[in-house]
Amino acid sequence: MTEPSKDGFDYLIVGAGFAGSVLAERLASDGHRILIVDRRPHIGGNAYDCYDDAGILIHPYGPHIFHTNSREVFEYLSRFTQWRPYEHRVLASVEGQLLPIPINLDTVNRLYGLNLTSFQLEDFFASVAEPVEQVRTSEDVVVSRVGRDLYNKFFRGYTRKQWGLDPSELDASVTARVPTRTNRDDRYFADTYQAMPLHGYTRMFENMLSHPNISVMLNTDYRDIVRFIPYQHMIYTGPVDAFFDYCYGKLPYRSLEFVHETHAREQFQPVGTVNYPNDYGYTRISEFKHITGQEHRQTSIVYEYPRAEGDPYYPVPRPENQALYRKYAALAEARSDVTFVGRLATYRYYNMDQVVAQALATYRKLSGQKAQPEAANAG
Ligand code: FAD
Ligand code: UDP
Repeated sequence: MTEPSKDGFDYLIVGAGFAGSVLAERLASDGHRILIVDRRPHIGGNAYDCYDDAGILIHPYGPHIFHTNSREVFEYLSRFTQWRPYEHRVLASVEGQLLPIPINLDTVNRLYGLNLTSFQLEDFFASVAEPVEQVRTSEDVVVSRVGRDLYNKFFRGYTRKQWGLDPSELDASVTARVPTRTNRDDRYFADTYQAMPLHGYTRMFENMLSHPNISVMLNTDYRDIVRFIPYQHMIYTGPVDAFFDYCYGKLPYRSLEFVHETHAREQFQPVGTVNYPNDYGYTRISEFKHITGQEHRQTSIVYEYPRAEGDPYYPVPRPENQALYRKYAALAEARSDVTFVGRLATYRYYNMDQVVAQALATYRKLSGQKAQPEAANAG
């Protein structure tokens, strides 16, 4: 554990997820003294993983699959972990069948009992699509590409459950995360790099934070220590509205309840995740052994039940929320003593790699370096 210099720590970092841990590692390697605090009892933020009672590696905050198009991000994280190649596959439970999602050639052929080729599928989509002048909402994205029936079966119910909003009330960017394909590619992601940390995320975070210049303090809300710990600059990765005591009102964040189960059989379902767009209170079930590659006689799964209240997991992308966020962002910009970074602090629906890229860019700004040309690809 590092000792603060007589002037205290150079940086107090709030939150030990990807945003906080990347910045701690980068700044410590430049000789800065870092105190990183998290109110949870562990590092890793929402990407934290651990072994459950059965000895199966699980993700307590829901399945985390690493994928990126950014070589910079992948190479940076490769300093702290080896990888296991893994391509995520998802099936959607629709009308009694388990069908590939993203919607592809097999999805349509099996759903409608057809035998279309890729070329014919393009024509099929064109015949059912409902053109819209401007794609603005999450409904527009889907109906303008695949029509209303596929939209109703795969997207409408899932989105209403997940967000508590109709897709017509959400930005296009939300359902645009899921592409439509005319070939038989059934991978959930198409990124260049798709792999899981060989020994898990937590081990990777331990390696990032095991630097003599970094002190880690867990089970600690920064508000309880901030007056007693001398430091030069704060990096804050928690919810931005909480930082400013909700002075403009609460920013909507969507929450989830995770229900974990272990089953006394080797496999629960055929792929890592099965989505349940219709029926049931949960949106999806994920089985960890598919994702981690672990071999075990039993298997552990997690159900995700969307909730309005609870830990903030998802910023909710829609214009009025963005307008409220901009008011908080203006307060944040005026604080030269604090830097805001990460999914909750910048109110962005970011994947892990995008948070790493944002944190690396923030590091370059803080250390006065020039930006690199490459940024992590969205999605
Ligand atoms: P977080 O991981 O949320 O870290 C912020 C930390 O700050 C938390 O640990 C919190 O305890 C701490 N904190 C907040 N307030 C305080 C305070 N007052 N005092 C002290 N500590 C505080 N991304 C992918 O790339 N692939 C996936 O498959 C994927 N799946 C996901 C599934 C789910 C269910 C969810 C919710 C997210 C998923 N993500 C996925 C997104 C991923 O979790 C985030 O991009 C990433 O974890 C964000 O990192 P962060 O450091 O910004 O925030
Ligand atoms: N979505 C859907 N049906 C699906 C999969 C996704 O309607 O079978 C929509 C839903 O609104 C979801 C969004 O697309 O929130 C993004 O999906 P993704 O799997 O990227 O969500 P995440 O993993 O971030 O929860």
